[in-house]
Amino acid sequence: MPTSSEVLALDIGGSKLALASVRRDGTLSWHERTPTAGVRGGDDLVRWVRTQVEARALTPEALGISTGGPIDDVRGMITRMPRMEMLWGYPLADGLRAAIPSLRSVSVVNDACAACAGEVVFGAGQGLRNVLYLTISTGIGGGAFIAGLLLRGDRGNVAEFGHMCVAPGGPRCDCGALGCLEAVASASGLYHELTAAGVLAASDRGWAELGPWLAERLEANDAAVRPFWQRALDGLAVGIVNLWTAYVPQAIVIGGGLSALVQASRAELDARIAERSCLMAFPRETLRFSGSRHTIPLLGVAAVAGGWIGVEA
Ligand SMILES: [Zn+2]
Repeated sequence: MPTSSEVLALDIGGSKLALASVRRDGTLSWHERTPTAGVRGGDDLVRWVRTQVEARALTPEALGISTGGPIDDVRGMITRMPRMEMLWGYPLADGLRAAIPSLRSVSVVNDACAACAGEVVFGAGQGLRNVLYLTISTGIGGGAFIAGLLLRGDRGNVAEFGHMCVAPGGPRCDCGALGCLEAVASASGLYHELTAAGVLAASDRGWAELGPWLAERLEANDAAVRPFWQRALDGLAVGIVNLWTAYVPQAIVIGGGLSALVQASRAELDARIAERSCLMAFPRETLRFSGSRHTIPLLGVAAVAGGWIGVEA
């Protein structure tokens, strides 16, 4: 892939679309956002991107698209991203190439893999050759940069670390399996568990507000809430030790909306990891936290599309 000095980057999230032009030094020359609710289908999305590009009289050569998975990065489309049914199977890469004739390449990348690339090129994983990334947010996603290459796996669906089983017989995950890391430690998983147990009323708040609520309840040492958070930390420790044992990475970077809360429980998490990493002791500095820049998937997908990071062929 040819390298570019400035790349167009699109982040498709469940609640908003973000579009930016990213320079090789990680700065943005502009950044635009719009609610995803206004997008009824792929044609709307393509039209919005084209309008932004035309309004600035740009002629981008490379475009990177960061999106929730599952995806098909060969055909350049979203296949089954939850809550985004209107885009399933739409030929995004082809549609955008046709709408913006200057584009020579369009890359579609899972958003957690994009964030992993962002951490490697611009963030907590800079200068390292083996980095894993975990985003702890509404769900739990993962990315893997191994031996200097961002892994893709089958059609871009590598590193779904949120669906590792960390609690056999544990709560049912949205994916259908029991005891996934996502079911015990993500905002949606914790929300399901807390509402099912009657600790949190379903009408009170949604997943998006769970982080501040949890932080407040844990700060107050709420005895009804603590066991759920302790189980989340148990699950995270099992997941982190599994990743450590499988890859022995130089860094496991934690990002996402609940990462600050995990960082606040660092001592409890470290103790659980130490207890479980028996074969090879887990160096404390391996666990790192993202700078929590919400633009990291944009920066990462620009790095992929611009050829600023090595990617598995
Ligand atoms: Zn699952």
